[in-house]
Amino acid sequence: MQACPCGRAAAYAACCEPFHRGAEAPDAERLMRSRYAAFALGEVAYLHRTLHPDHPEAATDPRAYAERLRAHLKRARYRGLEVRDARGPDADGVSWVLFRVDAMHAGKDAGFAELSCFAVHDGGHRYVGGRTFAANACPAAIDDAVEGARALTPG
Ligand SMILES: [Zn+2]
Repeated sequence: MQACPCGRAAAYAACCEPFHRGAEAPDAERLMRSRYAAFALGEVAYLHRTLHPDHPEAATDPRAYAERLRAHLKRARYRGLEVRDARGPDADGVSWVLFRVDAMHAGKDAGFAELSCFAVHDGGHRYVGGRTFAANACPAAIDDAVEGARALTPG
């Protein structure tokens, strides 16, 4: 059994794999976790498919996007995900997830924290964008990062 990289106590096949194969994640936190797992496993098509149209990379050609991401991921190792806080969706379908990632890139510490914004589009939650923090400066809760959150809200 392959444990899912997203940090839930579940096998990959029963956790994020169905999303990578086309199912819709039921909420923004599961979508965020499945996107993390996609980074860890090199599921680059999924990372493009789950971008909200408001994300700057959504209009990028998926093949060019995948190629660029694969080159990056060759030197990257994703070692863990910690979800700190999650909220939403609100009446407009907008959700927030605050998380911390333990990662290495080219042999160096590349850990970070991010407050991500998600919005419903085309039947599922999609990644709108995020505000990143240093891994050791991750806010404890979304309320502590609310100014960053407002700047990201779509529309
Ligand atoms: Zn998972």
